[in-house]
Amino acid sequence: MIIRETSARSSSGSFPVGYADFTDFPFRLCHPHLSVKSAAKKFILMATPSVFITPSSVQKSTLVLWDIDGTLIVSQGAGVRAMERGFQQRFGLPCDLGKIDWAGRTDSWITSEVLRHNGLPVTPENIHAYLEAYLASLPHELSAGPQGQVLPGIFELLEKLHHHPTVAQGLLTGNLRRGAQFKLTHYQVWHYFEFGAFADDSPRRNDLGPHALRRASEHHGVTFTPERTWIIGDTPHDIECGKVIGAKTIAVATGNYPVAELAAHHPDALFENLADVDAFMKLIVPEN
Ligand SMILES: [Mg+2]
Repeated sequence: MIIRETSARSSSGSFPVGYADFTDFPFRLCHPHLSVKSAAKKFILMATPSVFITPSSVQKSTLVLWDIDGTLIVSQGAGVRAMERGFQQRFGLPCDLGKIDWAGRTDSWITSEVLRHNGLPVTPENIHAYLEAYLASLPHELSAGPQGQVLPGIFELLEKLHHHPTVAQGLLTGNLRRGAQFKLTHYQVWHYFEFGAFADDSPRRNDLGPHALRRASEHHGVTFTPERTWIIGDTPHDIECGKVIGAKTIAVATGNYPVAELAAHHPDALFENLADVDAFMKLIVPEN
């Protein structure tokens, strides 16, 4: 695909942004105001200044996998309250998640620990029933409880990565897929994620990396190497699950772990928060 960029403005207010031979097809034009004019055996692509063109021959080569809680968002405890309320409603017992070291764990791991702490059988049936009760409580806790936020820099980073021609982004999270959807829809960022690895795949976070790599490859039709894969999270568990597949890891101290504690686990990069969008982008795609 030949895309030659130019800033020359035409009399119509549009400007040619590139040329493509017939043999260059297929390519994708990602703007409703884009027009195509034929000239001999060439197309001239005319566009308004906001046009974005993604030639299909530019392959995705860098994979960014995001944790959710403490990394993309903080929900002011909505997930914890839904876990406690779901347990109370399903099993008729009080539940204090403060007794569980839940940060960075999967929802299925947490439910097993809560059952064990309360002397209940850790069976697939009980885990399933508890997870369903948690999911039934989560939307209410997200909307009615104290309101959290999307963390600094995240909106801008998700948007930049979404439009980057060589970067793919997905989720690698301890949330169930439906729980992730509830949370990220509430905070209006769910639409950035077309694939991911979730607690549905395994109760062990360290198992999730291969699931995420496989889904990324299936979705984009290319193989992502661990060396070009970045796993971003706010706990030592995120760093560890990246290291077990040979991926690069970025730790961010916007969750429960301070910078010094995360540094002890030797991530490839460490940020206090992700407000410095340019620094993050230079790390992920240094060639740009
Ligand atoms: Mg987290």
